[in-house]
Amino acid sequence: MHCPFCRHPDSRVVDSRTSDDGATIRRRRQCPECGRRFSTAETASLSVLKRSGVSEPFSRAKVISGVRKACQGRPVTDDQLAMLAQRVEEDIRSSGQAEIDAHDVGLAILQPLQELDLVAYMRFASVYQSFDSLVDFEAAITRLREESGDGSSDRSAAGADAESEAGEPAGNPNV
Ligand SMILES: [Zn+2]
Repeated sequence: MHCPFCRHPDSRVVDSRTSDDGATIRRRRQCPECGRRFSTAETASLSVLKRSGVSEPFSRAKVISGVRKACQGRPVTDDQLAMLAQRVEEDIRSSGQAEIDAHDVGLAILQPLQELDLVAYMRFASVYQSFDSLVDFEAAITRLREESGDGSSDRSAAGADAESEAGEPAGNPNV
């Protein structure tokens, strides 16, 4: 990183902090040549390739507005939508891809939405998976019945784990 003042080719990091949402790292740097300080921001790039062929930056707001429509009249709060969008972004980023197909963003929404509200999930899935007959609805409902089985009572616990590190066992006494 060149010094923006004197173009010296090197700089020293004097401070580094992560933004509240964890998506950006800001670094305060100092030039060893002229001594002046400047800031840099580092964000992993993640773009969405739309069907039109246009690529645009991933946006949690767009995830939320898409899911909000499916949640009309359902008991889903803004906080829950925000957490869903955060989880979708984390899932996509953890795949390591810098660019993802818009259709795959829709697919990444399905699982967390299924855990949040089954009616909203069915509305959303019918659009994203192009249900075009009652058979498709029947197949989806049968699968949901099988999946919800008897483990449905601990669904609320899943959200509480959202902040812990992936793969880290919750409540491990050795941590
Ligand atoms: Zn300098």
